[in-house]
Amino acid sequence: MPATPDQLQKYEKIEAFVKGFKLSSHTYKKIMSLLNEEMNNGLHKHTNHSADIKMFPTFVRSLPDGTEKGQFLALDLGGTNFRVLLVKIDGRDVDIQSRTYLIPQRVMLGTGTQLFDHIADCIIKFTQQHNLRGIKLPLGFTFSFPCKQEDLNQARLSKWTKGFRCEGVVGEDICKLLHEALKRKSNMDVEVVAIVNDAVGTLMSAAHNDRDCEIGIILGTGCNACYMENLKNVGVWEGEYDHPDQMLINTEWGAFGDNGCLDFVRTEYDRELDNFSINPGKQLMEKMIAGMYMGEIVRLVLERLTMEGLLFQGIDRECELFVRGRFYTKYVSEVESDHDEFFRNTKQVLDELGIQNYTSEDCKVVKYVCTLISARAAFLASAGLATLINRLNKPSITIAVDGSLYRFHPRFHNLMQLKIHELVRPGLRFKLTLSHDGSGKGAALVAAVALRLREMKKEDQENVANA
Ligand code: ADP
Ligand code: MG
Repeated sequence: MPATPDQLQKYEKIEAFVKGFKLSSHTYKKIMSLLNEEMNNGLHKHTNHSADIKMFPTFVRSLPDGTEKGQFLALDLGGTNFRVLLVKIDGRDVDIQSRTYLIPQRVMLGTGTQLFDHIADCIIKFTQQHNLRGIKLPLGFTFSFPCKQEDLNQARLSKWTKGFRCEGVVGEDICKLLHEALKRKSNMDVEVVAIVNDAVGTLMSAAHNDRDCEIGIILGTGCNACYMENLKNVGVWEGEYDHPDQMLINTEWGAFGDNGCLDFVRTEYDRELDNFSINPGKQLMEKMIAGMYMGEIVRLVLERLTMEGLLFQGIDRECELFVRGRFYTKYVSEVESDHDEFFRNTKQVLDELGIQNYTSEDCKVVKYVCTLISARAAFLASAGLATLINRLNKPSITIAVDGSLYRFHPRFHNLMQLKIHELVRPGLRFKLTLSHDGSGKGAALVAAVALRLREMKKEDQENVANA
C-alpha cells in the first residue's frame, strides 16, 4: 500500500531524528584515515603516551603450526560471562570441555579481591568436577581488558572497560592476582603460561587451521581487534628483534575517538549513552559498535520518537521502554529477523517491554531504527578492519571473528562483507570467518605455542652445549 501524505510527513519527521546514523562512504574513509593516524601514534615511542589507541605488544610472535600438543586449562573473562575450559590439543585435533559461570554485578563493581576470589572459586569447582585436583596443568588466561603486557604471562591492567570497575586492580599484574587468590582459597597452584585478550585468542584459534589469518576482531560485549605487525614498525617494543620479526598487536581500538576526533559523527544519542555510562568520555568507538551498548542506543532513539509523538501513541509513561538498559541488544537481532508484515518477533519484543496498543506502523519504525543502528555499527567495524587490511597490504587475508553480536545478528556478517569490500584497496582479498570457541581455545593455543617454543629453545641450547 502506498504511503498516505500524513505518513510521508511523519516519515520525514522521523528521518530528521535518525539521519545522523547514516554516514557516507566518504565519511567512513575519513574515519579510516583518522584511525590509521591514531594507530601510528600508538605504535611510536614518542607519541604512545598521549595516544588513545594503545597498540599493546602482546609478546605473541608465532602462530600455531599444528604440531602443538598437550592438556591445558583456559580461562575466559570476556565482559559478560566467565568460563573455565579444559582444552586437549593434539596437532589439529582439539577437544574442549567447558563450563560457564556468572559474574554477579556486585562482583563486577566490587573489589579486585572479590573478583579474583570468585574466579578462584570457579576454577576450584571446575577442577574438582573434572578430577583434576593435584594435577598442575599449564594455563592460558583470556583476560579481555586493556593490559600493558610485560611478558607473555605478565600483564598489568591499564583500565577497566565494559561493565567492570573493580577496585585495586588497575596497574596490577593479573597473573599475580590470580595466583594469590588461588593460594588464599585452596593452596592450589597453576602455571600461568600466557595472558591474552580475546581478540588475540580468536586470531590464534582461527590461525590454527588457516595460515592466512592475521587479523582478529571481537564483536561481543565490547569491540576490539588485533593483527600481526612487522616488529620494525613497533616503536614501543623494547625487547629483542630476532626471528620471528613480527608481533601480534592488541590495538584496543575501542578507545578510538576519546580525544574527540569522532565527535563529527557521534549523535545526540551516543552522547547521552556516554553520559550515563560508568566510564564517560571513554571507549567512544566501542560504544557505537558493541553489544553492551547497541540496544540502549536503539532505546534512546525510540524514546525520543515517542516523546515527539511519532511512535507509540498513548503509551503508558511507566512502560519499560523508558527504563535505561531495558532494550537488550539481542532484541535488535530479533527485530531484524522479521521479514514480513506480520512482525512476529518485533511484537514479542514490544510485548516484553509492556508496550500496549502498538500498530504495524510502529513495528515498521522500530525495525527501521534497529537496521540503521546495527548497520552503522557493522560499517564502523568494517572501516576499522579495512584500515588493518590496507596496512597489512597482503593479497589474501583471513579475519577471525568472535562475539555474540556477530554470531547472532542476522545481517552483521553480510553488511561487513559488503562494506569492507567497498573500503579496502582494490585487489586485496579478504575472508571473514567465525572463530569457534575463539577465546577459550585461543588461550590454550597461545600457551601451547609458548611451551613448544620453550622446548625448542631448550633443545637448541642442549645441542650447542653438546657440540
Ligand atoms: P563476551 O564479549 O563477554 O565474551 P559475548 O561474545 O557473548 O560475550 O557477547 C555478549 C554481548 O552480546 C552482550 O552485550 C549481549 O548484549 C550481546 N548479545 C547477546 N545475544 C545477542 C544476540 N542474539 N544478538 C545480538 N547481540 C547479542
Ligand atoms: Mg568472549
